[in-house]
Formats: sequence, structure tokens, C-alpha cells
Amino acid sequence: MSFPAPSRLRLDGAALVANWKYMAELSGSAAAGAAVKANAYGLGAREVAPRLWAAGCRDFFVAHWGEAAEIADLVPAQNIYVLNGICEEDVVQARELGAIPVLNTPAQIALWRASGGGRCHVMLDSGMNRLGLGPEQYDPMLFDGMDIDIAMSHLASADEITSQNAAQLVNFIAMSQHIGFRRRSLANSCGITLGADYHFDLTRPGISLYGGLALDGLQQVAYPEARILQVRDLPAGSPVGYNYTYVAKSDIRVATVAIGYADGYVRALSNVGTALVGGVELPVIGRVSMDLVTLDISNAPSLSENDWVTMRFNLDAQAKLSGVSPYELLTGMGSRSDRHWN
Ligand SMILES: *Cc1c(COP(=O)(O)O)cnc(C)c1O
Repeated sequence: MSFPAPSRLRLDGAALVANWKYMAELSGSAAAGAAVKANAYGLGAREVAPRLWAAGCRDFFVAHWGEAAEIADLVPAQNIYVLNGICEEDVVQARELGAIPVLNTPAQIALWRASGGGRCHVMLDSGMNRLGLGPEQYDPMLFDGMDIDIAMSHLASADEITSQNAAQLVNFIAMSQHIGFRRRSLANSCGITLGADYHFDLTRPGISLYGGLALDGLQQVAYPEARILQVRDLPAGSPVGYNYTYVAKSDIRVATVAIGYADGYVRALSNVGTALVGGVELPVIGRVSMDLVTLDISNAPSLSENDWVTMRFNLDAQAKLSGVSPYELLTGMGSRSDRHWN
């Protein structure tokens, strides 16, 4: 049996492709890849990867080997790169799969060599001190005879105007100097906006593809929708939801809809989120609960039970309202909703 879920994520495939093309254009002479880790930031890697492949994307970044396996029947394995690198547990299957590891540590490099070597990428830590070879581990001998395609690094503060970016750029150039790479890559979405110096041969946009970056030229991709379960008229003074965090100032009409924090509609949008129906904003009133949200639909009196509403999910604005980053808003979209791509 397969019941349609009462909440769904409507996904705009044309907007996704347009966003990738826009970021590719901003990348200038560099090629644009795509970060499709975490199930393409929650939207569905199996839907995202083939659309971007068809648009011309040839470099796909995931975090885990399982994520590479998930899409390896849709795009060639040798075009999928695993950011977390390789460990003993994964190495046999990883070679069988044929996706390419991003080697992050001397031990990962040694393991890759010992298991047969071959094409790989390396992550150099140019200042973030998160993942990748740090300057204290860096030794040109490490890379001797290796088949390194991409030498890469990651920016810690690409979304800020700070001298940290230029410092990382200088470090990256210095660290990559003694490596026989074919390509270099530094910029994530925000890094691309820092200008041509940051583009090198390949860029790695993620959040921007999914509409999570406030840039003119990018479009919203994901639209959460939910079915109205109940409509009621409440007199002034009525409280709504857990802990009575909302009390009606006047007589209102309310609708309770089938979406909640278990679907990724975060609790931090309580009393600040909105739904949108025919251009009319319908405020979320009271607490967002696990499965339900209540809306003030006084301005859309024709709405009735079983109608659908669209929750506002323009990521930058909702992030500011909720204090939850656009990355978390997207990746938190639960697996309980149906996904409808056009
Ligand atoms: C996630 C990730 C990206 C993409 O970053 P966005 O900010 O989503 O564009 C690029 N590079 C690395 C190493 C990443 O981990």
C-alpha cells in the first residue's frame, strides 16, 4: 500500500538547473561541480545528480561512500568524489565502486597507496583546521608518484568579508605548489562570489544550487506544502497550541495543517513563519509541533479542509526569522514528506 503523505516537498528541477548554470557562469573559466552530499542537502541526490549531469556538471562531491553508491548508477562513479576520504573499513568496496576519494591525512594517503593507488584527490588544510592535511603534516614526499587529479582546500569564512579568505588563498597556493595535480579547487558557493582569484580550475557550489544563498539570479527550488486537516473559527482571547504561546487578539479563523518539525519545518518558526496561498500571507500561530502547524487564515476565508497550502521557504528570509541556517533548514527536511519534482 502507498498512501500519499499529507505533506510534500515540491521541487523545481528547472530552477535547480538554472541555479547550477548561474553558478557555473559566475565561476568564469573554471568548471562548476556540485556538492550533492547529505542526499543533495535533503532534496534527493538521485533526482538532483542526473539533472545536473544533463546540464553539463561532471564533478560531484559527497561526504560518505554510501552516498556515492546511492547515485553511482545515475552518474559515472569516477565523477563522484568522496570528501571524507578512505578508511580500512571502506577501501575494498570503495575500489569496487570506483568513486574517487579525497585523501585528507597521511594515513589515508598511505592506505590508498597500499591498496593499489590510482586517481585520487587531496584536501589541503589552508587554515580552517577541520579536515585535510595541515601544514605540520605537509611533506612533498607524501605525494611522490601519486595520480592526483584535484588538489583542493576549503574556505572557513567565505560568507564574510574578512582577511581570512585572502590568507587561505595564499596558503592554498603555497601548499599546492609541490604537488603534481591536474586541477585545483577552492571555492564553495560563497567562495565563488569572492572573485576570479578563488576559482582555479573547478568550483564546488552546494547551497546555492538549492536556492539557499541570497544572490540575485538564484531561484527557490524547494517548496514545502501541507494539507489542511481542520478549519475553525475562534473568538478573541483563544489560545492556540502547546504552552499557549499565541492568544488571539480578535476573532480569527484558523487552519491546522499537516506539517511539523518531524517534516523539517523547524520549531524556531513558531509564531514567525508564514504560509502563502494565492499571494496572501498566512501567519503561523503558536508552537510548531511534531506533525502540525496552525495558521491564521482570516485573510483567506475561502480555504477549507483538505486544501493545500505552501509554507514560505525562501531560505535566506526563513533563516533570518528562525535563527536556523539555510543549510540546516534544507538538510532537516524530513523523509516523511513526499517529493514531487517537475
Ligand atoms: C559542503 C562543501 C561544499 C559546498 O559548500 P556550499 O557552502 O554548500 O556551497 C564545498 N566543498 C566542501 C569541501 C564541502 O564540504
